[in-house]
Amino acid sequence: MTDRQTDKRADNHYNFLAIGGGSGGIASANRASMHGAKSGIIESKALGGTCVNVGCVPKKAMWYGAQIAEAFKYAPDYGFNAPEVDFNWSKLVESREAYISRIHQSYERNLGNNKVDVIEGYAKFVDKNTVEVDGERYTADHIVIATGGYPVIPEIPGAEYGIDSDGFFELQEQPKRAAVVGAGYISVEIAGVFHALGTETHLVVRKHKPLRDFEDMLSDTLVDIMRDSGPKLHTHSVPKSVEKLDSGELLLHLENGETIGPVDTIVWAIGRAPATEGLGLEHTNVATNEDGFIKTDKYQNTTAKGIYAIGDNTGRLALTPVAIQAGRRLAERLFNNKENEFLDYTNVPTVVFSHPPIGTVGMTELEAIETYGQENIKVYNSTFTAMYSALTQHREPTKMKLICAGPEERVVGIHGIGFGVDEILQGFAVALKMGATKADLDDTVAIHPTSAEEFVTMR
Ligand code: FAD
Ligand code: NDP
Repeated sequence: MTDRQTDKRADNHYNFLAIGGGSGGIASANRASMHGAKSGIIESKALGGTCVNVGCVPKKAMWYGAQIAEAFKYAPDYGFNAPEVDFNWSKLVESREAYISRIHQSYERNLGNNKVDVIEGYAKFVDKNTVEVDGERYTADHIVIATGGYPVIPEIPGAEYGIDSDGFFELQEQPKRAAVVGAGYISVEIAGVFHALGTETHLVVRKHKPLRDFEDMLSDTLVDIMRDSGPKLHTHSVPKSVEKLDSGELLLHLENGETIGPVDTIVWAIGRAPATEGLGLEHTNVATNEDGFIKTDKYQNTTAKGIYAIGDNTGRLALTPVAIQAGRRLAERLFNNKENEFLDYTNVPTVVFSHPPIGTVGMTELEAIETYGQENIKVYNSTFTAMYSALTQHREPTKMKLICAGPEERVVGIHGIGFGVDEILQGFAVALKMGATKADLDDTVAIHPTSAEEFVTMR
């Protein structure tokens, strides 16, 4: 389609409608419109969804703040006399929110330039081609459900005294003491930020370590660093109840009889659920699984013709670039004659903004052993002190791992934890995706002195 399609029937009819103006909805509607489809987005809250408002963006702003706090640790050995530093949490929040409102403006501008309509309100399906928003009905040839998810709270007495990650971003003042419960990305990132910025922080995980599903080298190293200089890690700690004292302080009681606290804030970060209830899916043939995630095939088709789902509500990798790519590819397929366009969900690189950061793409060592057999894989490891910290009393380890398969030693897993790994990984993920072998990495001249050069010099 090259010319913009205009609706011949009614203003409220679209070629492409996205329910949800987050990462996936915006990306897909923009792309559909660029290919001439009359497109609209329905959004009940702020444009940008989770990532911009209560996810990646405010989190990264807090992480950058935490990085600056950490730099003060190193300052004296670099010759800086850094006297007692005064940190103002609300100033950081103010700068962060001002940045987010500039993102909102730029999104509005871009959507306007692309002629994507933004409909404000909560959408519900009336039938498979029709949604209702505040009593107004909109029809579309193609509807994508891009409603994302929301944080889960445990069902234990007193859970309501805690906050979730959305609540973390509402904090206008820094808590002096905090407990963060959960073992995934969010708990690790929030606990790291609190700790680096000076909050006395407890990270409470119910099993033996956080980030259990990651390559063991990564989570084990993170645990070692936490034990040495991070938030206080409580393992095998299952929350039983929360008690609020008259002073307003909170006690977190655990199943094992121990109590954590008193603390000022408890943050639940135990996972996210899909925002699929209340959408009126019962008026369509869209099927969900037992946890409410929408069933999709590799083309993002749901079980209802003309209805698609992308992003966090599909239960696949809950990452912004994944929602964006799935959305853009869907629009390419529907409106640019690319019939076989779909997102390959394998080998997606990802970073945990921990302290230090973790970068990972491809298989863990265990997955590679299961897939290829122990005898068919070769693993390369490197451990060193990042030069940035090596000059100082606060030495911090960096660890890297390459997992190679087959006689040609094709690189099937790249993992790192340490200073700068967050920015190193993207390019190496390209190499892995292109099928690079260990010899290809070795054939690339190193950039010296960097941490990244370890990935091309491992023995
Ligand atoms: P969302 O971005 O959640 O957008 C869904 C939108 O739909 C929302 O705006 C919602 O209001 C709207 N909506 C829902 N139902 C309706 C309805 N019925 N009618 C109208 N509107 C509706 N990912 C990364 O890649 N990197 C990170 O560093 C990162 N950090 C994160 C940190 C945190 C604390 C969190 C919570 C998430 C983070 N993520 C990160 C994950 C990332 O935010 C999500 O994967 C991404 O936002 C998913 O995009 P989406 O389009 O599926 O949904
Ligand atoms: P996750 O699902 O990643 O992790 C939550 C973990 O908490 C579980 O894996 C589980 O770990 C533990 N848990 C579950 N239930 C309970 C419970 N009742 N009590 C105590 N612990 C419990 O969820 P998150 O909320 O951390 O993040 C959601 C998703 O958002 C991530 O998976 C990621 O895709 C995305 N995200 C990405 C980021 C990035 O790219 N940097 C940053 C933040 C989020 P266990 O079984 O080991 O106890």
